[in-house]
Amino acid sequence: MSAIAELDWRGSGDGAAGPLVIRNAHALDPASGLDRVSDIVIRDGRVAEIAEGGAAAAPAGAEEIDASGLHAFPAFFDPHVHLRSPGQEHKEDIETGTRAAAAGGYCGIVAMANTDPVVDDPAHVLALRERAQSEASVPTGFVATVTLGMRGEELTEMSAIREAGAVGFSDDGLPIVSARVMRRALQYQHLVGGNILLHEEDPELSGDGVMNEGPVSAALGLSGVPAVSESVMIARDGALCLYEDARAHVQHLSARVSVEAVAAAKAAGAKLTAELTPHHLVLTDEEVRSLDSRFKMNPPLRTEDDRQALIEALRSGVVDCIGTDHAPHAIDEKDVPFEVAMMGVTGLETAFAVLYTELVLPGVLDLGLIVERMGAGARLFDLDQPSLAVDAAANVALVDLEHDWEGGADGWESRSDNSCFHGRRLKSRPVITIVGGEVAFRRRSFAMKVAAG
Ligand SMILES: [Zn+2]
Ligand SMILES: [Zn+2]
Repeated sequence: MSAIAELDWRGSGDGAAGPLVIRNAHALDPASGLDRVSDIVIRDGRVAEIAEGGAAAAPAGAEEIDASGLHAFPAFFDPHVHLRSPGQEHKEDIETGTRAAAAGGYCGIVAMANTDPVVDDPAHVLALRERAQSEASVPTGFVATVTLGMRGEELTEMSAIREAGAVGFSDDGLPIVSARVMRRALQYQHLVGGNILLHEEDPELSGDGVMNEGPVSAALGLSGVPAVSESVMIARDGALCLYEDARAHVQHLSARVSVEAVAAAKAAGAKLTAELTPHHLVLTDEEVRSLDSRFKMNPPLRTEDDRQALIEALRSGVVDCIGTDHAPHAIDEKDVPFEVAMMGVTGLETAFAVLYTELVLPGVLDLGLIVERMGAGARLFDLDQPSLAVDAAANVALVDLEHDWEGGADGWESRSDNSCFHGRRLKSRPVITIVGGEVAFRRRSFAMKVAAG
């Protein structure tokens, strides 16, 4: 296990910014059993002390944050982000994407490799890592593609790519169609470590589908992607993982049959993990009746029955973590008829608020469970999951659960505006994000003071 702050970013992660005291926050960390109003003292990048609210002595020169009325959570980690750099900076870049992450309460992210050109060799990985060291607001891990040019034919130099510091591999955006290529990739994963992140669909079954296949697609006369397109590939790759004793991770699960495929692979002993997006947890294909391209993504929004299965999978642990699949697109790529619009939605700045508003407040899922699953993505890459335990790296999200806002009304830190929660009333918002003891984001309206003495 290593520390998130050791990934590439602008900060140092060793607390060079000086000590901090978070005063009177409601600290909640299910893993360490913490659930009370507390002072959190941060020194040298670590949690030095957790005291009863108002009781901690501030180290000399410490910056004090009056967090009365706020919650302090272990900050979040997103294993699935598209930063669009290199080549598509009109959608997003390292600076805007990681600022969006920090604003969403994230202390770390992993960036996908389906850029232009794709990240498919060690030199590309090294170049991105170097840029992140001057541009990234939060620690950023990079994956390289599994196959050269994402063509699904020849493997990249997986060993050299790992030596260059990639945290794993993914052809996300496309599935790895050939079982032979997939098997070889898993053999290499077993040797070189990291993780293989899988976008699961069978293109023969997906065809030219633009939404979920079902009554809604039939009513709209749009071609559909059946849920089984996803689950057959998960079943195949679960079996291959088991056979090769390799590790892989299923991205953006969307359907009940896919949950069943992951559960079966896990039960058989495969080292397979899975993630869910906030949009698949709270929306269904009924939204597509509006023909608003903000509801177009891959995999598509499914049915209410699928959504219920996803919620239950998150609760039971069949699904390990939340990933946003933050996928920025420019206005002219989305503001076109539904059939031809680009697939994908942004997510970093709304993830927590959406889950809190739509699942926690109505009593569907516990707040502690959401917080845990939003940090668990770190473990996919052998990174320490954010925690508020004494001596843990100080990765903290301070969140105002009472904050009432409308998605997009005051703009986004992201360069793109393709949020499927644009215009929606949301409750709760991160106000300060601390990474490795350093303040990585502070909402503009929020003031702090420096302790005397
Ligand atoms: Zn994908
Ligand atoms: Zn993706």
